[in-house]
Amino acid sequence: MWVITHTLSGMALGIVLGGRGVSWWAIVAAALLFHIVLDLVPHWDYVRTDRSALWAVADVAGALAVLVGARLVGGFEWTVVMAGAVSALPDIDILNALWPSKKRIRLFPSHWSGFPHGSAPPLPGILVQVLVAIVSVIVLAVARG
Ligand SMILES: [Zn+2]
Repeated sequence: MWVITHTLSGMALGIVLGGRGVSWWAIVAAALLFHIVLDLVPHWDYVRTDRSALWAVADVAGALAVLVGARLVGGFEWTVVMAGAVSALPDIDILNALWPSKKRIRLFPSHWSGFPHGSAPPLPGILVQVLVAIVSVIVLAVARG
């Protein structure tokens, strides 16, 4: 899934688990596991499009804006912001969309070629990510009270 989707869903996970007194390292493990689970869901990724570098820059910039905005404007706790960052971090794998080599380097297990990474055509594959993002924002709003 997109970096921004993992960022928002990781933040939602962070606020729910953090609010229940779960330790930071358990939240880190859960955030990484959540990345794997979401990558199983059929979705549309831009990594194989002609404009993958453009998509990657917009995606990462959007995710960074969410994290910085959540902290500075929204006043969310560091635990929540960092859970979003940790959950999105495995997508550092998409950075090789930014350099010209066709060689794909994938470090995170859910990005390895044998992993049953979910795939869907653009329309449903984008809608499912918008849905995950909306649910995440609702969870963040409700959990914050
Ligand atoms: Zn991923």
